[in-house]
Amino acid sequence: MGMLSTIKRDDPELYKAIKKELKRQRESLEMIPSENFASRNVLLVAGTVLANKYSEGYPGRRYYGGNGNIDAIENLAIERAKKLFNVPHANVQPYSGSPANFAVYVALCNPGDAIMGLNLTDGGHLTHGWKASVTGKFFRSISYHVKEDGSIDIDEARRLALENKPKLIWIGATAYPMALPFGEFANIADECGAYLVADISHVAGLVAAGVHESPAKYAHIITTTTHKTLRGPRGAMIMVTEKGLAKDPELADKIDRAVFPGLQGGPHDHTTAAIATALLEASSQEFKEYAKQIVKNAETLANILSNRGIKLVSDGTANHLLLIDLTTFGTGLGVFAQEALDSAGIVVNKNTIPKEPSSPFYPSGIRIGTPAITTRRMKEKEMEEIAQIIAEVIMQVKDCKLPADTEGKKEYIKKFRKRLRNNLVIKEARKKTAELCAKFPLYPDMKL
Ligand SMILES: *Cc1c(COP(=O)(O)O)cnc(C)c1O
Repeated sequence: MGMLSTIKRDDPELYKAIKKELKRQRESLEMIPSENFASRNVLLVAGTVLANKYSEGYPGRRYYGGNGNIDAIENLAIERAKKLFNVPHANVQPYSGSPANFAVYVALCNPGDAIMGLNLTDGGHLTHGWKASVTGKFFRSISYHVKEDGSIDIDEARRLALENKPKLIWIGATAYPMALPFGEFANIADECGAYLVADISHVAGLVAAGVHESPAKYAHIITTTTHKTLRGPRGAMIMVTEKGLAKDPELADKIDRAVFPGLQGGPHDHTTAAIATALLEASSQEFKEYAKQIVKNAETLANILSNRGIKLVSDGTANHLLLIDLTTFGTGLGVFAQEALDSAGIVVNKNTIPKEPSSPFYPSGIRIGTPAITTRRMKEKEMEEIAQIIAEVIMQVKDCKLPADTEGKKEYIKKFRKRLRNNLVIKEARKKTAELCAKFPLYPDMKL
């Protein structure tokens, strides 16, 4: 009997939608770098009765009764996080990455304080001070950028930091194919007296496995989501380092009070438990091999795409993602590449590139990552095949021209979609990706 058999009986409409989503995940190549497939155990734990409990507060200091078991579970998650990331303090309650980052502001800043982060269209995150996020409205946000070669402009960051004396500096990114320069940013933060916060949401799994440098000895605070390369449930953690406690002995308390009662109410105990599961998995030898393979797979993709004349930001990758720069063919082509790849069974996202000549909604790049397909156990051989498919599909959209006016754009994209449906190269590509998916089954024992 399927695990959703009672839902099938009682809510067929919802059941059908969930089943279709499992089918979509199974039958396409998931290459959005921020996505992954959590283990059956993580999914199971996240679906337990722990979701029923209210436990505002922290282990040993709760505002509700009946929390003995929850205390044990939260302590387990905390201890595992501390050990895996080599830090003296961890808060596992943030609902997701964005609230975790907001909690850091709540802990350290007053409205109007200067803060600094990597510009969004250069690969930074919304919550690092982008103008459309409250972090860009409530604080005086200063952005640093990447240079022509795609690397973070450390000289600019230093100059801006010394000029503006920000209270906190973010180092972290959502679309940055190179290693994050933690050491350089530690120097900058120390020079201007700022707190350095490393947001390792994207690379947490690589850090845990020792495949990306750890920020533990450089940053005062580390934030991370738990659902990206770390392969856990949707959630987040905030960690305080030894260096952070040396700068400010109250820092751990400040973070805890910022999360609760500063920003949140009751923690999601089912998620906390699933984080504990994911942290156990991430400390295994198998996970280390997994993280190494993520990077090898990304390198293989990068080599083949470059050889086929496709331009990559920073000319390659040192982590789990590549940023394809489509401006050699035209501006604003990201949307066409994304939709064509989608039709071919490869799910990616359009993305801005450094010095974006178009806009965040019609950007000139696409972002491609290997964490999820590596979870499916695909290796270099499959990457070679996938890179050839991606290259061929991109050749189908290289002559697209994005009109300047809004109406023209809509019309053009509509016609483009129609043409896609009849494109034989894309049809052939879809067959190949379907075969790959069948060879590397996702959740093979799962029956809905
Ligand atoms: C994904 C991400 C976040 C936000 O996480 P959500 O869970 O989507 O809120 C924050 N910072 C970085 C660098 C990220 O990649």
